[in-house]
Amino acid sequence: MPAPDEFKNRLFPVLQDIADHFGTPFHIYDEAGIRKTGEHLKKSFSGLPAFKEYFAVKALPNPSVMNIMKEMGFGFDCSSITELMLARGIGSTGGEIIFTSNNTSREEFHAAAADGGCILNLDDISLVPKVPEMPELICFRYNPGPRRTGNEIIGNPVESKYGVAHEQIVDAYRKAMDRGARRFGLHTMMASNELDYRYMVQTADMLLDIARTVSDALDIRFEFLNVGGGLGIPYKPEDAPLDLVSMGDEIAALFKRFGETNGYTPQLSMESGRYMTGPHGVLATTAINRKDIYRKYIGVDACMSSLMRPGVYGAYHHIDVPGKSGEQNREIVDVVGSLCENNDKFAIQRPLPKIDDGDILIIHDTGAHGHSMGFNYNGKLRPKELLFRVDGSVELIRREETPEDYFATLSFEKNVLSPSGN
Ligand SMILES: *Cc1c(COP(=O)(O)O)cnc(C)c1O
Repeated sequence: MPAPDEFKNRLFPVLQDIADHFGTPFHIYDEAGIRKTGEHLKKSFSGLPAFKEYFAVKALPNPSVMNIMKEMGFGFDCSSITELMLARGIGSTGGEIIFTSNNTSREEFHAAAADGGCILNLDDISLVPKVPEMPELICFRYNPGPRRTGNEIIGNPVESKYGVAHEQIVDAYRKAMDRGARRFGLHTMMASNELDYRYMVQTADMLLDIARTVSDALDIRFEFLNVGGGLGIPYKPEDAPLDLVSMGDEIAALFKRFGETNGYTPQLSMESGRYMTGPHGVLATTAINRKDIYRKYIGVDACMSSLMRPGVYGAYHHIDVPGKSGEQNREIVDVVGSLCENNDKFAIQRPLPKIDDGDILIIHDTGAHGHSMGFNYNGKLRPKELLFRVDGSVELIRREETPEDYFATLSFEKNVLSPSGN
């Protein structure tokens, strides 16, 4: 696992060069860190007969980063047609892709089955007759309802719109078999940013239990059990990292026991997004204004279009001001963007070194659900993405949006209906 400051120590000495060349704001991702975390993930679960990570595309949907995942042997977890296109665009196909949609449309079913198909993960029993052609291999997302309490962030499973209810799960597989399914997987996604590995072990245990129930009822075997994503990362300096090694060891022991009593061991699948890339990206943004009214404000050249998590979830993202460290001369500030929304703040009442116009701020842990969540409200455009390569070079992997991109949807053929009402 990469040490917390590894990326920082390589980035900060060359940050000014990068900023001068590319201009701020930008997200920059660390190839070396992503690879180390990927290897750490594989090693932590090497006690299982079979393990596969399907990187959750929504966390960082950039082909250059997805190629790194592919090189490490990872597949992709997609939830939309464009995410399927991204995964297929870098040459992944069939069993390398799991499609986990919810409230699935006809178009999505057709896209899932096209171009070499993928592993179809169904979100509800009512979707079984709606699948245009039942694939040989089918998976269902399980929602335990009152049997589990959710973790803090994702909430209570009873209130969650996802997955097949406990009472319906056997029937769901039976109905899929009636339509021709012959191979099976089981999926769940219970947590978000969970730092307690024991919660993930409980989730694996729960899946083994459901697999046993369904196997006994229908005389089938499961090829894989997918514990979903939701592995947490330490956003705050004082957060303890998730104990991935213990998670791997304890899940391996559970699977071993299952193998001994059931005569086979399914593959463990996982769909980590945040854990894989979250710590390996930062948002670099330049201070452009200082304001001293009832509070002190540092205005920067990025806004919510670059990073929504603080505004939407009140999420903490640690901020460094390279070249200005130390506890002295700190002042309490809000770090703000330029949106006409008062939640457009990257930090609220945060003690930071005294910041001057022109200083670069590093907002940490933006490698997952960062750029991909950005929006265009207020006509604000999304920033560029850079990749810090293992060899020390820095590559543009997505340009910044331009007004032409923003106005592209205003270019269309005239189309006027005069409704007659009958
Ligand atoms: C969002 C999502 C993930 C990834 O979640 P992380 O918290 O980034 O690990 C995985 N699977 C599904 C179905 C998701 O919706």
